[in-house]
Amino acid sequence: MQSMSENDPMMDENLLLDAAREARMKAYAPYSRFLVGAAILDDQGKLHKGCNVENAAYPQGTCAEAGAIAAMILAEGRQIKAIAVVGDSPDPVTPCGGCRQKIREFAEPTIPILIGDLKQLRLRQTLADLLPHSFGPEYLLNEH
Ligand SMILES: [Zn+2]
Repeated sequence: MQSMSENDPMMDENLLLDAAREARMKAYAPYSRFLVGAAILDDQGKLHKGCNVENAAYPQGTCAEAGAIAAMILAEGRQIKAIAVVGDSPDPVTPCGGCRQKIREFAEPTIPILIGDLKQLRLRQTLADLLPHSFGPEYLLNEH
């Protein structure tokens, strides 16, 4: 597990994208051969990586973002401050609808979501851009 500083945002973006690229290389995607990696920066400045894991029973496969979230929870991180997702496709590989909601559980709508390919940042969005008017844990936790 690496740590990131708050000092140089551009360098941190590249670190986060590189971590997602590293994770992508570990993906288990024998059916689609569509490798995806994700990396989360948490509120402690720690990085957590995930990759997609396919299954012969197709719907049982899991996304890279879900793996990164599980790694964050295991390491006792609770807040996503930024997330990078990397795939290799002509169009930027954005989180699927389900993952947008999974991210929302642990993130403010304003956090950056960096979408990269093997070489560069392709798209920078906020969670609110990808999941507007979202439903989150504060609806259920009675934090008034
Ligand atoms: Zn997904």
